[in-house]
Amino acid sequence: MNGRIPEDIIESLRQQADIVEIVAGYVTLKKQGQNYTGLCPFHQEKTPSFVVSPAKQIFHCFGCGKGGNVFTFLMEQEGLAFQEAAEKLALRYGIALPEKETTPAQKEQESRIKRLRQINQWAMELYEQALKSKIGTPGREYFSRRGLSSETIGQFHLGYAPDQWDFLTKELTAKGVSEQELLLLGLSVTSSRGTLVDKFRGRVMFPILDERDQVIGFGGRIIGEGQPKYLNSQETPLFHKGKGLYGLSLAKNAIRQQDQVIIMEGYMDVIAARQQGVANAVASLGTSLTVEQVKLLTRYTYRTLICYDGDSAGEAATLRGLDILDQQGCRVGVMRIPEGKDPDDFLKIKGKEAFIQLAEKAFSLFEYKFQLNMEKFDKEEMAGKVAIIQASLPELAKIKSPVARQGYITMMADTLHFPEPAIKDEVRRYFTGGQKKDKTAPARSPELKSQSSEELAQGIIIRCFLRDVRRQEAIEEAGGASLFGNPQARSLYQTLSALIMAGYVTLKEEDLVALIDRQEERQWLTGILLQESPPGDEERVFQDSLLTLRRQKVERQIKDKMAKLAAAERSGDNSAAKEIMIALSGLNIEKQKLKP
Ligand SMILES: [Zn+2]
Repeated sequence: MNGRIPEDIIESLRQQADIVEIVAGYVTLKKQGQNYTGLCPFHQEKTPSFVVSPAKQIFHCFGCGKGGNVFTFLMEQEGLAFQEAAEKLALRYGIALPEKETTPAQKEQESRIKRLRQINQWAMELYEQALKSKIGTPGREYFSRRGLSSETIGQFHLGYAPDQWDFLTKELTAKGVSEQELLLLGLSVTSSRGTLVDKFRGRVMFPILDERDQVIGFGGRIIGEGQPKYLNSQETPLFHKGKGLYGLSLAKNAIRQQDQVIIMEGYMDVIAARQQGVANAVASLGTSLTVEQVKLLTRYTYRTLICYDGDSAGEAATLRGLDILDQQGCRVGVMRIPEGKDPDDFLKIKGKEAFIQLAEKAFSLFEYKFQLNMEKFDKEEMAGKVAIIQASLPELAKIKSPVARQGYITMMADTLHFPEPAIKDEVRRYFTGGQKKDKTAPARSPELKSQSSEELAQGIIIRCFLRDVRRQEAIEEAGGASLFGNPQARSLYQTLSALIMAGYVTLKEEDLVALIDRQEERQWLTGILLQESPPGDEERVFQDSLLTLRRQKVERQIKDKMAKLAAAERSGDNSAAKEIMIALSGLNIEKQKLKP
């Protein structure tokens, strides 16, 4: 987990740094019982679900799930690497760090990267010059057809790759760039005759800059007909697909100021938007957003608008992007460009004001998915209406605010001309079918996600285990890791068991968070550490929870067998079906025995 800082220094940093003090530098905290609460800095919220525990030296957000210790907090909040977070803490608490030593290999790597950046910079300048010169006429004509001003062309460093075999290769070679470097950066390719030729020919060029204004790669669009229409840099030491965002270097200040970003599909969308005065737009380079891209964005804002093409490919990409944004705790809106137009056309015809109005009228995640369901089924027919409602329920269930949920139910009733009580019935059935409410559920820390009895039981088991590691025997006897239905809980239990095997006799909660490397595991752990077990005898609560997990495990096995049975019956494999049925009846007997 840690690079070059010795373990004992990390340890003393961890002991001296106070998480409440560090977090308070970013979040207004209020004391509540033993803990502090505040508005989560990692997602947008109105009521505090972010908890800091001074006793355990951990934080956890019950809204978005982020959690960890003082190092993790700084890393996430400031976008730092572990090393950098440690340096920051060392400075603050006056702890001396050993001099940073760079090995010769690291030094060589650094200068190699610097050199590659320089070559990309040269390439960008050569393409820009070509666009302005006589050979650049086709490129200039293209951009003027698209309505771009020379100011815009300059801002985005747009260029032109002449329709010649080795324009760039020749120029760069003259500057002393080697064949190997040209190939590595994907600027040149080897021809069938074995000579080096330009990768981009007869294309207008869009340099891709990172947020520090360094050229990391290029996109080239063919002028006129030809394939492929868009050609991007391959993976290089500087360019990694799915990591950068086009236009971020120009847009980042506007994104921060407006606390909002518009995510678009292509280069031209972003460029056209900026020329029309919409400065907070970026493009995802490729059709769907990645987690890395969203993390990059959340350094600037959590308020996101998706504005993709109105066609079906754009629609599918929008859906994937929405879920990723939602998972990362962003507030999302969807702009739908009318009549299947792309944003570039819309801006050109209707202008900035109309575009901003569209942004203000953006659909929420639920509204957007509801609209898509409306288009999928026949809303005039009764069966269609029911199908639309049912398809929308999983999305509705994700909405945490009861007021918002009620609002959407009314909206659905109005739109579909369907009685509201009937929709509510469907909703209720959906909720109770999924997870039963546990009556013995204790009063818990502020929590937005409602938890099933299984989730609660998994937390209780891990907490009891931590309090007394001798309970491992009982857990193993009941089924061990296979008891945990939640993958995070399961792998956490395995990690803990491994730690005990390695000789840890006690597992102190605050030390533990630092020992868990995997983010998901750690976030799950900080969550359960801040919850309280039901009142009453701890051993009894522990045993009850074990029973719950054993029952859930049998349920999972039954479900799995049922699916296998259906498959065997479909394929007409009678002997397999018979075997599965025997196993099923055994499982059902076991389930009966485990009744509470
Ligand atoms: Zn949060």
